[in-house]
Amino acid sequence: MYEYGSFIEGNWRSGGDRFVTRNPARPSQTVGAYRSASGEDLAEAIRAARAAQALWRRIPALERGDLVARFVDALAERTEELARSITLEQGKPLAEARGEVGKSCTEAHLMVALARRELGEVMPSARPGVRNLVLRRPRGVVAAITPWNFPILTPMRKIAPALVYGNAIVLKPSEYTPATACLIADASRHLLPSGLLQVVLGGGELASHLVSAHGVDGVTFTGSVATGRKVYAAAAGNLAEISLELGGKNAAVVHDTDDLDAALDAIVNAAYLCAGQRCTAVSRVIVHRRLHERVLEGIARRVGGLRVGDGMQDGVQVGPLTNERQMASVRAMVERGLADGARAIVGGAPAVVRGYEEGYFYQPTVLADVQPHHAVAREEIFGPVVSVLAYDTLDEALSILNGVEYGLTSALFSNDQRVVQRFVDESENGMIHVNHGTIPDSHMPFGGIKNSGVGAYSVGPSAAHFYTTEHSVYLKERP
Ligand code: NAP
Repeated sequence: MYEYGSFIEGNWRSGGDRFVTRNPARPSQTVGAYRSASGEDLAEAIRAARAAQALWRRIPALERGDLVARFVDALAERTEELARSITLEQGKPLAEARGEVGKSCTEAHLMVALARRELGEVMPSARPGVRNLVLRRPRGVVAAITPWNFPILTPMRKIAPALVYGNAIVLKPSEYTPATACLIADASRHLLPSGLLQVVLGGGELASHLVSAHGVDGVTFTGSVATGRKVYAAAAGNLAEISLELGGKNAAVVHDTDDLDAALDAIVNAAYLCAGQRCTAVSRVIVHRRLHERVLEGIARRVGGLRVGDGMQDGVQVGPLTNERQMASVRAMVERGLADGARAIVGGAPAVVRGYEEGYFYQPTVLADVQPHHAVAREEIFGPVVSVLAYDTLDEALSILNGVEYGLTSALFSNDQRVVQRFVDESENGMIHVNHGTIPDSHMPFGGIKNSGVGAYSVGPSAAHFYTTEHSVYLKERP
């Protein structure tokens, strides 16, 4: 059982209100007992972050990178421990959790490497004897709020760039999955200066205080659109820089393909990993009518064979949903879809797993006969559910694809150059894939447009736009 308080200035706090986490496969099992940070704890964390950052920013960038790389190596050495904490609180299969730890470390090392490269520009001058530079400097203190679906990937996607670019960071992980964040803090203890990486524990109220606190220079948030709006408004009080990574209603468009099996493998993989609780999960399959029946049959066969169960058990492919609220919301969305006229060709109800009858398991589900105006075609479900929609023309496909409030990621399966070009030009999404699923690389900009995101993308070169400030410098030679 995990027992932690907040990690502030290198020490664990023992006071504060107690809250517990539960294993979503067996909700009667308590996994962790935690202490919430108080308002005073938060103020101290921000003060300590400012002090630590003032020193950290003076350390040469390459040396900072070496220190961060050592910290990431320490995380990699604790892969098994971190992966178990993810499965126990979040629910995903252990193999997937190990993969999440690995990807987090890979992304972080790529970030270290990127921060060693050029940062800024030399510009021509309008005046004689003057040299113009555009420099980037650390932003300062970053507040980070993360959801429960990727307990290490999302925090590390914020911690690594914050640190390598010379910032301090105060992280508030989801109250459903704090163990992994506490283990990250523990791994940093003898490797990073105290105050540089701090973890404050608690729920939404604490998070709202953190994002509106004085002394925070940037707010990076990953979560739902509804909470994102509140965070945006709160950060505006301080005019703090903002980066919001929000929900999605991602689609795979199947137009034509000479390898339907490969396309369907990629789609099913992208849709049901993490029980569909991935912001980049494929949630809609938009298929040309001539392929419609074959696609329905192929997806149904694959999805019907997925093994649901406790993520700790070998061979399980789909774990439980993370919490009761999520279970209720997935259930309600599917029921609404069925009431609207959709047909569940696979699943469509909670799953009963023997020995785990109380767990938050939901059957991997495929909904056919879905129309573009149905809620299951427009709203984020964030569960193991795919809605299949048919179209006759490419215009119609693009209209369905883009007719939602979200713009995170999309995939097209086609060998027709004309179709590919239009998709790349017209898909209203931050990330666009052709002939593979929606799983992103570890060094490419990651983010969304429309209601899926605000501000600089994370991962890769774009991260510098949030984690650093820009300065125009004019150097005149002495006469
Ligand atoms: P959420 O309810 O919005 O919560 C996200 C985080 O915000 C949690 O740490 C939550 O704390 C905190 N929070 C709650 N109320 C807050 C407030 N008033 N002010 C500031 N923070 C507050 O989202 P979720 O249900 O955890 O996560 C699922 C959502 O995240 C989905 O919509 C998914 O698409 C999105 N997501 C997006 C990306 C991306 O990169 N675009 C990646 C992953 C997930 P507590 O959990 O402790 O209440």
